[in-house]
Amino acid sequence: MQSNNGFFGKYGGSFVPETLIPVLEQVAFAFEELKKDSLFNSQFEELLLRFAGRPTPITYAEGLSEECGCDIYLKREDLLHTGAHKINNTLGQCLLAKHMGKKRIIAETGAGQHGVATAAACAKLGLKCEIYMGKLDMERQRPNVERMRLLGAEVISVNEGAGTLKDAVNFALRDFVANVETTHYVIGSVVGPHPYPEMVAYFQKVIGEEARDFFKNDLPDTVVACVGGGSNAIGIFQAFLDTDVSLIAVEAGGKSDKMGEHARTIGLGDDGILHGSFTKVLSDKYGQILPVHSISAGLDYPGIGPQHAFLFESGRVFYGYVNDSQAVYAFKKLSEKEGIIPALESSHAIGWVLENKDKLAGQKVLINLSGRGDKDMESVREYL
Ligand SMILES: *Cc1c(COP(=O)(O)O)cnc(C)c1O
Repeated sequence: MQSNNGFFGKYGGSFVPETLIPVLEQVAFAFEELKKDSLFNSQFEELLLRFAGRPTPITYAEGLSEECGCDIYLKREDLLHTGAHKINNTLGQCLLAKHMGKKRIIAETGAGQHGVATAAACAKLGLKCEIYMGKLDMERQRPNVERMRLLGAEVISVNEGAGTLKDAVNFALRDFVANVETTHYVIGSVVGPHPYPEMVAYFQKVIGEEARDFFKNDLPDTVVACVGGGSNAIGIFQAFLDTDVSLIAVEAGGKSDKMGEHARTIGLGDDGILHGSFTKVLSDKYGQILPVHSISAGLDYPGIGPQHAFLFESGRVFYGYVNDSQAVYAFKKLSEKEGIIPALESSHAIGWVLENKDKLAGQKVLINLSGRGDKDMESVREYL
């Protein structure tokens, strides 16, 4: 879906310091041009095909279907290079940067998954890569720090604030302003100022296109995806927005409804500004962004893409949630029944289907399996 100058209804926009406006306009202009450029699009397709491993299959989940009394299909983004859908976007943005003549890429990462996907795309395309990461996150995510370094990226430790994602974003934005001539900032989800939400959605739309092509005229009744920032959900949903397929986004319910113990931005959040975008956020009564929690690092974000805020308000997408224990249950269930270890993020989408099987009886259900769960063995062991 195209935004109206960066707005989806009242959400979106570009709420950034003056100094960032010219560079965002430059990125928006390049994106508009390259979207129409057949060379750019064929190079992007080639990268998805020969490097990332697209198209991804759709697997009929026999055991899970039997258990739930509905027909469950899985869109296998877990089979992509680097283990999740994130590579679609990082390849797209790094290729865009290259076409813009930029030689240096920066990104910020929390759990490290976006950092690894960015580092891999940069290595493939011959771009210099620097990743900002909170000091605390670097300690918690050692293996991903090592992966990024092995892929040739420099990982810069951010010691300010709590040493987590929010602080790393601030550093990346500062760097972007100071080095616009040479640098492109790769944001990892459909969040941030215009044109990022629309641009990331464009690079992720292949997920839904492949799914729609697979089902042809016999569409699923329901499509389910987890939401952190919202890119895998937008990626699959956008191909079904013009149909009457019911679309379910699943937020991280965490430990409880208590402040700081969940990441239910749509369910429990308010309108506010985060990372340059007017959207739904988890904030206190003074508008300060609250801490969030989820067992899955990729859903642990106090905001959501502005298009989701709009899709919620318009009623087109239903936003549910699944808590940590239901996600861990789904993680084990899919592993046992289907021989697939899902990412803890994706386990939220599976968990929602398990929880709502009565409502889904007899339906054809498509779940976006956004990533693989090998990375999550330690978190699950700790949880249990
Ligand atoms: C990062 C991540 C997510 C959450 O990001 P979205 O932008 O909401 O898709 C979901 N699943 C996996 C496997 C991830 O790595």
